[in-house]
Amino acid sequence: VKVAVDLAACECHGQCEIVAPTVFKLEDETNLSWDAAPPESAREDAEAAVVMCPTQAITVAD
Ligand code: SF4
Repeated sequence: VKVAVDLAACECHGQCEIVAPTVFKLEDETNLSWDAAPPESAREDAEAAVVMCPTQAITVAD
């Protein structure tokens, strides 16, 4: 699974980390890090993060 985040759109509220903690990690209030190529088992959580993100900053692809 490929995960991308548009950092220009991300507002670092951390909803993605709540639904997909194995993929996303808010380092601090302005710094999001994430696994750009998580295992297939993380797909469902990553797709939930796409839906939860208030700024539509996350993209999940194959
Ligand atoms: S949910 Fe979206 S806006 Fe919030 S930290 Fe994650 S990527 Fe950024």
